[in-house]
This record gives sequence, structure tokens and C-alpha cells, in this order.
Amino acid sequence: MSQILIVEDEPRIAAFIAKGLKAAGFATLVEPSGHNAVSLAIGGEADLIVLDVGLPDIDGFEVLARIRGQGVTTPVIMLTARSSVADTVAGLQSGADDYMPKPFSFEELLARIQLRLRTDTGGESAMVLTHRTLSLDLRTRRASVAGREVDLTAREFTLAEMFLRNPGHVLSREQLLSGAWGYDFDPGSNVVDVYVRYLRRKLGADYFETVRGMGYRLV
Ligand code: CA
Repeated sequence: MSQILIVEDEPRIAAFIAKGLKAAGFATLVEPSGHNAVSLAIGGEADLIVLDVGLPDIDGFEVLARIRGQGVTTPVIMLTARSSVADTVAGLQSGADDYMPKPFSFEELLARIQLRLRTDTGGESAMVLTHRTLSLDLRTRRASVAGREVDLTAREFTLAEMFLRNPGHVLSREQLLSGAWGYDFDPGSNVVDVYVRYLRRKLGADYFETVRGMGYRLV
């Protein structure tokens, strides 16, 4: 089991990431301090590091510089402010493997983590999800129905991916909302229903069953 080190001082976001990663089968370690994160990374405690820029002691860039300076090659995905292109560029230049602008949806982060871990091990098998005639290629972010390519927006793709990862399971609106839209979204929103309608229109109405009072299921 891969262990993911989550370096984030905001408890709400750290818990959101840890909860999702545990559900996806990862072991997690949450560390709010940059100094401690450096020690953990050098000690080989992590297979991958999710690293926030804003930390109470040393910032994420400094953490990254120190661990890379010690020869640690563990993949690092940085959490940056969406508005800050400078942060993103600085992160990649200082040796991050990828970055994730905040606010982000959990499924987006998970896709990047899985991609990084697979790139490292060279495996490719789970990069295409299929269900009956539906197929999603997670590397190219392309969807197809019976071999015919279908254009999905990024959000639609993320939502479709959640369904294909959980065939036959009822996914609640809250699960879909936090998975595809992230922790900042209004729980009273009907955006999930709207997007399930889009998926039905694009991928086929009979795949996405409404389970009254509970949510939706891929059948
Ligand atoms: Ca922070």
C-alpha cells in the first residue's frame, strides 16, 4: 500500500484529502509543519507527497528545496493558489512533479496522484476504465461509447470517472459534489443533477439510474 504524506496546516483541507485517499486504498500521514515534513520525507516515510505552499513555519517551496537538496526523488504534487501563476512556475522549477491549483476537487487530485505513482512503477493497466460500451482513458481524458469518441468537459469527465470507478454502487449527491466539485461547493446546489443530465445526453440515458432519495448509480 502506498503511503501519501499530506503536508497541509489547514485541518479541513488535510482531512478532506486524507479521507478521500483512505477510501481509495492509500495509507496517509498528515503533517502541518514544514520542518517535520522535511524529516519525514528524508526518512523515506512517503511514496508521494502532497505539499501545500502556505505552511506555518517554512513554506512549501523551502520544504521542496530541502528534500530535493538531500537527494529525495519522491514525487511531489504542490497545492497552489489558483490565482498565482508565479507559485505554479516556482513550484515546477524547484522540482515539483505536478501542481494542483486550490480549490480543487478530490477526483482531480486523485487522478494526478495515481498518474504519478503509475509513471514511477511503469504500470498502465488501470489507465482505461470501461463499463459495458463506455470507456474512459485517464491519460488522454477522452471518453468513448462503443468506440465512438464523445466530447466531455473536464467536470463531466471527472463525474463519469467517479461512476466508472464505482459501478453498481449508489453515489450520493454529496459524494459526487465533493468528489467532482471539491470542498468549497454549496451542498444545497443542484449542479450534480444538471451534470448527470449532461452525461445521460452524451453517454446514454440508461447508464445513469436515479435512486430516489439517495443519489445515482451506474448500471
Ligand atoms: Ca496551508
